[in-house]
Amino acid sequence: MEETVLNMEMTGKCSVCKEELTMFGSKELKNGVICRNCAKKVSSWITDEELKLKSINGIKIHLRNREKNMEKLAGFNPDTTVEGKYTLYIDKEKKAFAVSKKSDFRTDNADVIPARIVKSIELKCLPYEDTENLDVYLIADVRNRMFDKVCYRVNEFPGLEKDSVELNDALTLGKNYIKALVDTGLVNSKRVKED
Ligand SMILES: [Zn+2]
Repeated sequence: MEETVLNMEMTGKCSVCKEELTMFGSKELKNGVICRNCAKKVSSWITDEELKLKSINGIKIHLRNREKNMEKLAGFNPDTTVEGKYTLYIDKEKKAFAVSKKSDFRTDNADVIPARIVKSIELKCLPYEDTENLDVYLIADVRNRMFDKVCYRVNEFPGLEKDSVELNDALTLGKNYIKALVDTGLVNSKRVKED
């Protein structure tokens, strides 16, 4: 998530932990503001736009579920990984996966996602800003009260040229993420949408 500069109204105390808000990293809610520390605990799969739709109560529930996720991670033991800017961790036995940008998915408190909640998964090439260049995204629709989507950019640097080696590499990596989920039996191939 990008850092947002605190605007003038966002002074005072955090709506969740009641600490003084800091200059940077505070985020808006529907009816409040959360501080940098609380914002860091929010799932990676919630965008700032989605956060703005959440109430103070909603975010408190979300943060409680994020704490429960830490307990789930204790029993999450990946046996298959696909490395990239984001690394995919699969626990075949638990039929669950996690995706993390950090080198340690446990300290990152990466959400443990049970495979059964995946409704569909796809790779999408989306235009980079107003250019002809593209970014490759992996998007999984999930049935979950925590978030609706697991969506991340596969390529490390944004805006790849059409027909470039870099774009091809990103597509290959993206396909490898999906292949790993299908090959381990976590996601039925029928749930894979073709772009
Ligand atoms: Zn706070």
